[in-house]
Amino acid sequence: MQNAALWQSVLGEIELSVSHATFTTWFKNTELIDQNDSGVVISVPNIFAKKQFEVKFNDQVRGVLSKNGINPKKITYTINTSGKHTRSSRETTTATTPTTDVDGLISVNPRSKVGQTTAGNLNPRYTFDNFIVGSSNDLAYTASQAVAANPGGKYNPLYIYGGVGLGKTHLVQAVGNEIIKRDPKVRVLYISSETFVSEFLDYIRFKKKGFSEKYRNVDVLIVDDMQFIAGKEKTQEEFFHTFNHLHQNNKQIILSSDKPPKSIPTLTERLRSRFEMGMAIDIQMPDFETRCAILNIKAAQSGVNLNHETVEYLATNIKTNIRELEGALNQLLAYAEMRGIEPDISTAEGLLGNIRHSRPQHLSSKQIIDKTAKHFQLELSEICGEKRDKYIVVPRQIAMYLLRSELHLSFPKIARELGRKDHTTAIHSIEKIEKAIKLDFLIREQVASIREKLYA
Ligand code: ADP
Ligand code: MG
Repeated sequence: MQNAALWQSVLGEIELSVSHATFTTWFKNTELIDQNDSGVVISVPNIFAKKQFEVKFNDQVRGVLSKNGINPKKITYTINTSGKHTRSSRETTTATTPTTDVDGLISVNPRSKVGQTTAGNLNPRYTFDNFIVGSSNDLAYTASQAVAANPGGKYNPLYIYGGVGLGKTHLVQAVGNEIIKRDPKVRVLYISSETFVSEFLDYIRFKKKGFSEKYRNVDVLIVDDMQFIAGKEKTQEEFFHTFNHLHQNNKQIILSSDKPPKSIPTLTERLRSRFEMGMAIDIQMPDFETRCAILNIKAAQSGVNLNHETVEYLATNIKTNIRELEGALNQLLAYAEMRGIEPDISTAEGLLGNIRHSRPQHLSSKQIIDKTAKHFQLELSEICGEKRDKYIVVPRQIAMYLLRSELHLSFPKIARELGRKDHTTAIHSIEKIEKAIKLDFLIREQVASIREKLYA
């Protein structure tokens, strides 16, 4: 087959197996430029794409080539310096993709709506497909994929650790989503350790039934943010039994935490040794190239194609974590959309400059709740009170969201701040606003405007 025809057929097949954003970001501007005894050469538009192909898509490309009867010794990716293709596809993406088509929310899972999660508490947004791989997380990614391919196998438990906003939740949920995709009968359960603790307390206090069964009748148990279990002896004890039960039955356990097992100070010794039985891998802050790649795909998911200058500006200036990186990008996109301007480097400079210069050192939860209430012309007693009228509920949810995004408070603490007893209310409220921000222009504007007041 001719190179071009062969590559079209490869791309056609790949397009069916990856999300729209992944395809347009990475595959669209590629070409098979050479094929000989020593291998094939594929041209890609830039260094970010080259890296993604080498670490992430190589197996997939090789698989599809092989289906087409080509089994090259080596696949080389070279950067296309002519720039010809990059430009043309940029135009098409910007022109045809509506901004509300948040890929991963809508395209990846057509059933998913705001506030909805799939089986096992998983958020369908978190997939391997939209997880960018770089040297900071490639081990964690590879181990996660191995677990998804063979749950209960040699990496059990899988323990992923790293700082805030670096992709732990994304990755552990991606494993769950992938397992269900491969076999919908597998029972996967995702919970935060905060939920585990609070359900355990209910079980003790109110003699609620079904606690042990819930956690033991699963094939894959994913517990996020294990550090919250530290120091809670009774809960650790219970978790130890749950762990043993599952492990002995070859059920997969996946854990995440902000620290390696040995550095969680008040983890009982026997739980620590259990956590160390399988595989513990860390995720680091991604390097510059990976940060650029993440920005590219996130922008594409919102139907926007940012130019390299802007991407590089954001990636250079935000080095804390990926959540912040995403936050800055979302602000930029929302701001540009509101004003009807291009999200370019000068807009980015203006916004980032504001964020960095005006962020006060000591923002308190009281200030956040006060300002949110004022913004919606509510009394404090209303926003923290019992009423569930919509005009109060949404502001309350926004206040919870801001307590989490600005102060990183725990869910139980957020619930308490707003006079709620049940921390799951906080979890649901925050998730709801997180999604609404992506889909609903009005909510996005409200949140942005309160944020501006917080840092004014
Ligand atoms: P953590 O659980 O470690 O605090 P999250 O998994 O919540 O972090 O990640 C924060 C945000 O950054 C999420 O929106 C997630 O999708 C995104 N993110 C993190 N790592 C990556 C990555 N490698 N590729 C794409 N998005 C990522
Ligand atoms: Mg997390």
